[in-house]
Amino acid sequence: MGATGSIGRSTLDVVARHPDRFHVVAVTANSKVDELAALTVQCRAGFAAIADASLATALRERLRRLGSDAKVLSGSAGLLEVATLETVDAVMAAIVGAAGLAPTLAAARAGKRLLLANKEALVMAGPIFMDIVREHKVLLLPIDSEHNAIFQCLPASLNGQGPETRGVRRILLTGSGGPFRARARSELQNVTPDEACAHPTWAMGRKISVDSATMMNKGLEIIEAHWLFGAPAEAIQVVIHPQSVVHSMVEYIDGSVIAQMGNPDMRTPISQALAYPERMDAGVGALDLFSIGTLNFEQPDFNRFPALRLAYWALAQGGSAPAIMNAANEIAVAAFLRGAIGFLDVVTIIEDTLAVLPVTPLRELGDVMAADSEARAEANRAVDRRARSAA
Ligand code: NAD
Ligand code: MG
Repeated sequence: MGATGSIGRSTLDVVARHPDRFHVVAVTANSKVDELAALTVQCRAGFAAIADASLATALRERLRRLGSDAKVLSGSAGLLEVATLETVDAVMAAIVGAAGLAPTLAAARAGKRLLLANKEALVMAGPIFMDIVREHKVLLLPIDSEHNAIFQCLPASLNGQGPETRGVRRILLTGSGGPFRARARSELQNVTPDEACAHPTWAMGRKISVDSATMMNKGLEIIEAHWLFGAPAEAIQVVIHPQSVVHSMVEYIDGSVIAQMGNPDMRTPISQALAYPERMDAGVGALDLFSIGTLNFEQPDFNRFPALRLAYWALAQGGSAPAIMNAANEIAVAAFLRGAIGFLDVVTIIEDTLAVLPVTPLRELGDVMAADSEARAEANRAVDRRARSAA
């Protein structure tokens, strides 16, 4: 799911290296008809699902011209259908943002092995998401490089339900610091979307690239780590590590610190999760420690990157706070990417939205969706106010 994206393409690259092990049942995209059709043919998928239902006919025609007889599905129902097909064993959840929540949960309810890149889904619906994972005994494998690293630094549990976390003192969540790690706040308001998306160590989709620049990505990852590993906020320490070689660490009560290292290439975590508990070639070159030479570690700066503080706050509030934060972030990032607001306005809009909306408990999925849509509406109003005052 999200085959045309950065994670989607890396996944198909890994899968194509192992035709003996994997067969692609279905691929999905939001609206890129030509790219989705080309990928469908390339990986011989039997199903292609397009979220924008108005493009189903165009996709069908394009596939016919390419000589493919893949079945076309569309809309949210189409995404849910491919996520739960009988012939599917594993689902790569790589749709960006809240749009991925429903198909990701559908895959979990169907008991599929779930490879989770779509961190926003877990952030917004944490307790409900994890209840479904437990209830349906889902093998949940994190794809986010940090969480995949933490997973690899933990022993497998005896009951097969998530990794064993007894004896852990802290999770050391590394982050490169993004493209503006060394910039003063005063230099940031006028940076362009392209500058914000020019990540020093990772090539990624534009939304997560902006998240990395504001460090909201690390904020989302704090909440993601909380749900995946049951770690309280005070046991999750963000560590700035500009080289992106150590992908995260686990500190144990006996003083041991175990790190997972590798080149910054998402094909490593993707491959780890696809092959788990085995290992297979990911097409990633060996880590050249001699050319890297030095690894640096720094304290995160909460004043220059207030998104980190907001995320800890939202996690402490619990309930709908992370969903509100996530939704406001999605609206603000989209507004920044289309040039409607400045870079520093992104986090201000999230703060304003969190300040206005009450935090409510999450009892069922409807509560999550209500918080998400209210926060989107409120954040859109905040974007309009900023855009008007700047004009
Ligand atoms: P991307 O923008 O490159 O791709 C997003 C994919 O989602 C595309 O296939 C797009 O068609 C699909 N999509 C977008 N909106 C949709 C909608 N409304 N309905 C259905 N499909 C929709 O993004 P990406 O960088 O591949 O990131 C995907 C997810 O993985 C995000 O949640 C991101 O946080 C996470 N992630 C990415 C990386 C990375 O290296 N790119 C690393 C860690 C985590
Ligand atoms: Mg990450």
